[in-house]
Amino acid sequence: MPECAEDDCEAPAAVRLHVPWAENREVCVAHARALVQRDGVVAEPLDADGDSWL
Ligand SMILES: [Zn+2]
Repeated sequence: MPECAEDDCEAPAAVRLHVPWAENREVCVAHARALVQRDGVVAEPLDADGDSWL
C-alpha cells in the first residue's frame, strides 16, 4: 500500500485523485475528502471496497 502523497502525511493511500491542474496523486481518505471538494477533481478508490469511504 503506497503512502499518501501529501506532505507530512504517512497514512496509507486509499484514493487516486485525478487533478486537472496537476499530476494525479494517491492520497489517504482524509486528504481525498478535502481535495475532492475542489472543482474538477475526481476521486477513484484504489481497492474494490473503496466505495465505503464516501
Ligand atoms: Zn494524507
